[in-house]
Amino acid sequence: MVAYVPTIGLEVHVQLKTRTKCFCSCPVVFGAEPNTATCPVCLGHPGSLPVLNREAYRLTLRTALALGCRIEERAVFDRKHYFYPDLPKGFQISQHFTAVGYDGHVTVWSEDGFRDIPVERVHLEEDTAKAIHEEAFVPPGKTYLDFNRCGVPLMEVVGYPAIANPAEARRYLVALRATLVETGVSDCDLEKGSFRIDTNISVRQEGTEEFGTPVEVKNLNSFRSVERALGYELERQSAVLEGGGEVARETRHWDERAEETYVSRTKEERADYRYFPEPDLPPLAVTEEFIDEAGVDLPSAPADRVKDLLVNYEVNVAEAETLAFAEGYYSFLKAAVERYAGDRRKVINWLLGDVTRELKERNVELPDSKLEPRALAEILTLLDDGKVNTPGAREILAAVLDGAGAPTDVMRKKGLEQVSDAGELEEIVRRAVEANPKAVADIRGGKEKAKGAIVGFVMKETGGRANPKLVGELIDTVMLDVD
Ligand code: ZN
Ligand code: MN
Repeated sequence: MVAYVPTIGLEVHVQLKTRTKCFCSCPVVFGAEPNTATCPVCLGHPGSLPVLNREAYRLTLRTALALGCRIEERAVFDRKHYFYPDLPKGFQISQHFTAVGYDGHVTVWSEDGFRDIPVERVHLEEDTAKAIHEEAFVPPGKTYLDFNRCGVPLMEVVGYPAIANPAEARRYLVALRATLVETGVSDCDLEKGSFRIDTNISVRQEGTEEFGTPVEVKNLNSFRSVERALGYELERQSAVLEGGGEVARETRHWDERAEETYVSRTKEERADYRYFPEPDLPPLAVTEEFIDEAGVDLPSAPADRVKDLLVNYEVNVAEAETLAFAEGYYSFLKAAVERYAGDRRKVINWLLGDVTRELKERNVELPDSKLEPRALAEILTLLDDGKVNTPGAREILAAVLDGAGAPTDVMRKKGLEQVSDAGELEEIVRRAVEANPKAVADIRGGKEKAKGAIVGFVMKETGGRANPKLVGELIDTVMLDVD
């Protein structure tokens, strides 16, 4: 059987975090009353003139620098012509002949190590109006337009088709998004549409050089759906080729519920956008000073964090991904480990286990929660010192998250201190043994599991605070006595 390998390319459009639009002074707003943030420039009235938003260019430049791009020395814009109701001018101001930066990369990771995925270009353009047809207030068959979004600065990061598999595509997006959030360029909120993903995927026989026919896949609203849609396409296209067929050049949509792609546009012709330089925006020089300003305090590459976790924390790739990219986890882990004398693996287990679960229950992100790294370290120390048992530590964690205060205080206030007094416990164990003759007989018969009944009795008597290890030992001694 012949093996088929995919080649995947990703284009990402990102709304930049500016106060005002790209070529006018209208505010950038989300969720405001429709068509209230508009002016003659962004509505494309005849005779209105665009003025470049310096901040939008700076943020694009900052991204290009963060991705290691070669920087274009001039800021030049072009007109991309097409007719659509969301584009009042009849063209989009974009960058076609020149970009802000070229030839960068996004570093991704896998079980096999690290790899740089090349980025072709980063450029700046304007967003279009938002077409609304699915809301209840829109009559059937009609489309409403909200021009608040029209002219919002939109950055495009165009990757080369060099991604080797669907998982790598997801990791590319995870790393790119982290870079953009951490450089302060965008909030990259997929639900609000400030981070939009277009994919293309072709499949070829392993060992052949020539790329297959690329298929575009759209309507991808999460990184998970990107991975699954591409996985679906890989199988679908491989099956077409395996059956002697040809892959059609088309655009497909991902159906989240059916978990399959379907054709949305066929017979693709290359659109002719009649690009030409935007005559209303004279070329500007991108000076050394401006580049320095844009590149100040760039964060390290997200992949470096994954590397640190893999090397220094002995986690697996999936754990490293969560710890590196779940909001606030990485810095929390670092700070907690610093304040805790025990095994750092314990911090990781609690962070990925109990802490994550409790946060989810409260629907709160770690940085917004009441849990400080110091508090988790304190809870684990109480546990290590035998002051509380595991259920007690869990209860403290929950209380701390609910704002009850410092762990040791919570322990005292709630009376969660573990009963490790052998005398006190022995008396209870004795009663437990007397009350459970059947369990005692079973234990004698070699059924270690029967101890559970006795431990349960002791836990009930102590309100769950007994030191379970000590109870186990005491059961043995008390049973010897009873003989
Ligand atoms: Zn405007
Ligand atoms: Mn674009």
